[in-house]
Amino acid sequence: MHRETLGEFGRIREFFAPLAGPGGLGLGDDAALVECAPGRRIVATVDQAVEGVHFLPDDPPDLVAKKLLRRNLSDLAAMGAMPRHYLLTTALPKSRGDDWVKRFAQGLGEDQRRFGLHLIGGDSTSTSGPAVLTLTALGEVAVGGEIRRSGAKPGDRIWVSGTIGDAFLGLKVLREGNGALAPEHCAELVVRYRTPDPRVELGVRLGGIVHAMIDVSDGLIADLGHVCEQSGAAATVRLNAMPLSEPAAALVGGDETLRAQLASGGDDYELLFTAAPERGVTIARLSAALDLPITEIGVVESGSGVRVLDADGRPVALAAGGWRHF
Ligand SMILES: [Mg+2]
Repeated sequence: MHRETLGEFGRIREFFAPLAGPGGLGLGDDAALVECAPGRRIVATVDQAVEGVHFLPDDPPDLVAKKLLRRNLSDLAAMGAMPRHYLLTTALPKSRGDDWVKRFAQGLGEDQRRFGLHLIGGDSTSTSGPAVLTLTALGEVAVGGEIRRSGAKPGDRIWVSGTIGDAFLGLKVLREGNGALAPEHCAELVVRYRTPDPRVELGVRLGGIVHAMIDVSDGLIADLGHVCEQSGAAATVRLNAMPLSEPAAALVGGDETLRAQLASGGDDYELLFTAAPERGVTIARLSAALDLPITEIGVVESGSGVRVLDADGRPVALAAGGWRHF
């Protein structure tokens, strides 16, 4: 059935132009203008969400928008960058109504106010396939203040923010139902899956303190593996040091297999970083100031690869690779 819609330009005017920042020129020109103060650099990242892969047709459109934006913000945070602007490209099925687009734009509006960035441009097309949404985020960092994956040094301690495994469990709850878990715990896990909390302020404030950083998107162990590979180092982590939320801890109980699964689940969007041991005091202070748990989970060593130890200090074999879309 063909439905009347506002069309490409109508949707831009109604839903997206109100989100435009000064550099976006009202979304009315050919391209955007990006200011960057002297001594600072633009940090750019892009993420894509494909219907049926990253979200489902009946997922709330505002939450689809927020997750897409937040995945990008988490990447900026992992570089120590402050978010400033974003560009959005949508390829939507012709049957997609204006209401979906309106709610999608509302989600973006709420989050750009919350995280302090603006839409400055993009493109929209229609497709005969599933919806594809692509968001490019631009942040800013002082020259030399960026935090790379490649700086981990043997002797560094490894820390992670927040809690790990909630999104993995939230997706499980959505797919398989809640099992034995209390309804409020289920709801908490689903929120963590649908609207992760990118650690924007933590990322910015860790500049000059840490040696290497990554956001946990593929899974704690896989992402730590990326840091080790880029740094030419090895790491050992203690599985029972991995921070769990109350609902996750309730589900894990004594199930060490599930605990290990959470370490290789994905979508946490917490920050994982390494720093010299004496930075622990500063990091604890930052944790208190931001009211965000930051937990030491292991140590960087010379060599290669990630070693995972159980509660008795025995090596655990984990399914390799972390979470993958393909
Ligand atoms: Mg990342």
